[in-house]
Amino acid sequence: MRALTLIADRKLVLAEIDPPPPPAAGEVQIRVRAMALNHIDVWGWRGMAFAKRRFPLVVGAEAAGEIVAVGPGVTERAPGDRVVMYGALTCGECRACREGRDNLCEKVGGVMGFHVDGFARELLNVPARLVVPIPDGVDFRAAACAPIAFATVEHMLFDNARLESGETVLVHAGGSGIGTAAVKMAKAIGCTVFTTVGDDAKAEKVRALGADHVINYRTDRFEHLVRKLTGKKGVDVVFEHVGAETFNGSLLCLKRGGRLVTCGSTSGPTTTLNLMQLFQQQYRIFGSFGASMRNIRTSLEKMAAGMEPVIDTEVNLPDFERGLARLEGRQVFGKVVVHF
Ligand SMILES: [Zn+2]
Repeated sequence: MRALTLIADRKLVLAEIDPPPPPAAGEVQIRVRAMALNHIDVWGWRGMAFAKRRFPLVVGAEAAGEIVAVGPGVTERAPGDRVVMYGALTCGECRACREGRDNLCEKVGGVMGFHVDGFARELLNVPARLVVPIPDGVDFRAAACAPIAFATVEHMLFDNARLESGETVLVHAGGSGIGTAAVKMAKAIGCTVFTTVGDDAKAEKVRALGADHVINYRTDRFEHLVRKLTGKKGVDVVFEHVGAETFNGSLLCLKRGGRLVTCGSTSGPTTTLNLMQLFQQQYRIFGSFGASMRNIRTSLEKMAAGMEPVIDTEVNLPDFERGLARLEGRQVFGKVVVHF
């Protein structure tokens, strides 16, 4: 069967590998139908110092598929079920896993497609507890954007930043995969949304998603505009994932007691922090990574209720690398979906 494997940094090969054995007890066998790309795929492809992994590595961190076989003892799933898969091999036994907070697993085996073999293969076996059924009316390409993109945003905005109806929120890179999802989720509960984009074409598109104020960060200082547009008050919440380029500006956008939640550092991982500003302004800063199983279920429910992911490009498996290049060049508006 086909599998897309990384054999060295920036070197992907479409390989023939052996199909998996029949699913063991507690496992299901999945036929992968669609994948979606995230920045973690770009990090994995470029290579990262200190990331423990072995080549060849099957890539792909976010996917949807169909169950084709179930192992002994699996009663809650059946062949033919459409599902999405959790993007990390969590232990299922520690307290965090038992509570469904798999992203805080104490014995995580690794992130799929990054530390351990991922979803870019025709068939794979996964623990039945790590799949979530896709509701009727949600197709594979949308569902493939649930386990990481939608669920990460769900976890950031609602579990960590506790965004509430009527609040103001600044969403960085409103044209990105998670940015588009954040704009939609915040607007859906009645927030006022400020967003940054890197060009005017994206500004139009993100306005069409409902963003109230769109700032081109290449032509305007976003922190000045956000303060001006909020009457110098600042916003309740900043949704960060750009990192070094924007982090300090983001703090300046917050009102006193405001919350900043971050899940990424696309422009660089290191910044300085003014501690006086941090405590005097009583900022609350949340690091967020991954999502709970509940976040994935909620994401799929939102899709079923009509909140479609924004899809930038759809490519076939051999063109995976073209999708990564679009992400790396920050050209995308929405998600890149990969079909099998
Ligand atoms: Zn665990």
